[in-house]
Amino acid sequence: MITRLDDAFQNSKRFVADASHDLRTPLTIPRGELENFAEDGRLDSELRDCVGSMLEEVVHLGKIVEQLFTLSRLDAGEAQTEWTHFDLTELAKTTVEQMSLLAEDKGIAIACDARQSVPVKGNSVRLKQVIVNLLDNAIKYTPAKGAIQLRVLAVNGHAVLEVEDNGIGIPPEALPHVFERFYRVDPARSADSESAGLGLSIVKSICTAHDAEVEAHSTVGDGSCFRVKVPLSKN
Ligand code: ADP
Repeated sequence: MITRLDDAFQNSKRFVADASHDLRTPLTIPRGELENFAEDGRLDSELRDCVGSMLEEVVHLGKIVEQLFTLSRLDAGEAQTEWTHFDLTELAKTTVEQMSLLAEDKGIAIACDARQSVPVKGNSVRLKQVIVNLLDNAIKYTPAKGAIQLRVLAVNGHAVLEVEDNGIGIPPEALPHVFERFYRVDPARSADSESAGLGLSIVKSICTAHDAEVEAHSTVGDGSCFRVKVPLSKN
């Protein structure tokens, strides 16, 4: 019975991996065509709006497929490969710099409190993705003119990375579920139609692969704080 259940589980994982892989390329074709249409000055405004909303949906679908593909690669153990020693502080600083433009568009400031060198070992590309996803959410769920703070420090043999915002917060009944796949607190809370409820499950999966813990604290109306604890690298 357990073997059969495990087989079914593995088959379904393989199906998601194959489907998301095979859908990636075909989706780029309608996207490209719609982008060309959208720029065609001969279209009347009604048709341009229609092309615009189709393009939005195709972009949304593309993002879901991309995230499913990422999850299937993480399930296959991808984050456990290509490990190097690196400084989490440096990685956090460059990621904040890159994400600042996105935040500035909403009049949000990201403060980075990362002064000491914090050595960790892991897949730096995937750990960067953790920071990107957390900052991306902080920007998405913080109203214009809000503030985000990123901290990196070393505490009791662990590197601690915190992303705190003063945004809309998460209701207590939703908090235990935010790391589940496809879980969204309330789709209406995000003006961003690309949200699919997969960003934090990717964060969780990468953390698990690094023996790291991730937790969320939040108060509705006051903001949220996501804390990642990664073992410090010994050398
Ligand atoms: P999504 O792509 O919908 O943002 P995530 O997996 O990243 O999916 O997040 C799951 C849910 O957790 C979101 O739908 C959102 O409501 C909530 N959430 C995540 N980060 C924050 C945050 N910083 N502030 C408020 N709510 C958040």
